[in-house]
Amino acid sequence: MIEMEQVYKTYPNGVLAINGINIKINQGEFVYVVGPSGAGKSTFIKMMYREEKPTSGKIIINGVNLAKLKESRVPYLRRGIGVVFQDFKLLPRLTVFENVAFALEVIGESQKNIKKKVLDVLDLVQLKHKARSFPDELSGGEQQRVSLARSIVNNPGVVIADEPTGNLDPDTSWEIMNIFEEINNRGTTIVMATHNREIVNSITRRVIVIEDGKVVRDEARGEYGLYD
Ligand code: ADP
Repeated sequence: MIEMEQVYKTYPNGVLAINGINIKINQGEFVYVVGPSGAGKSTFIKMMYREEKPTSGKIIINGVNLAKLKESRVPYLRRGIGVVFQDFKLLPRLTVFENVAFALEVIGESQKNIKKKVLDVLDLVQLKHKARSFPDELSGGEQQRVSLARSIVNNPGVVIADEPTGNLDPDTSWEIMNIFEEINNRGTTIVMATHNREIVNSITRRVIVIEDGKVVRDEARGEYGLYD
């Protein structure tokens, strides 16, 4: 479960980005985070994997309060949380296989386990045949599939995504969404900030709307609403 209690975030320049958020997300939920530009969506998402710290309040994921978590424990937290970005963030000098294997190598998995787990997730995203390719040899959609494979190879309880279809054409965006749905069907919680109105209105799931740093709407099977 993910829980935010009275969360506020003021950046060092004085901008109040999150203005008192209380929210609960149960294990296995699929949640879209929508709202106008500058509303605080990225800040909300970044606080969930401790890229940003709240100024006050509690953020509890799997029983751990991220607001109080020591910097030295952040890598352990990240093992239980997969993260997917709009711009993929793959390591350009590593192959597809190595990009996905990296997360397992740092936790000291055996070579045998690494090979099996990496090939399994590459199979799920249908990119086994590209295992030896480098990121710049792949299309945007393929790169995002690699980053999805990387996000789940540790078998995390939660995958957090910030505009994962933001750089992709509509057909490719649907392919990526199918994979997110499959990951969610296996019991993984998905929290996804998005501007993709068509997807939110077609694959209907819980919608949290953030405006001016506050949750202004939270619906179990919501719609996108009137934002850009
Ligand atoms: P969204 O993702 O909805 O576009 P953000 O969370 O990126 O919104 O931004 C919320 C507010 O916080 C905006 O006013 C933005 O300018 C400000 N902001 C975001 N990141 C930073 C930062 N690192 N430093 C200062 N202000 C920031």
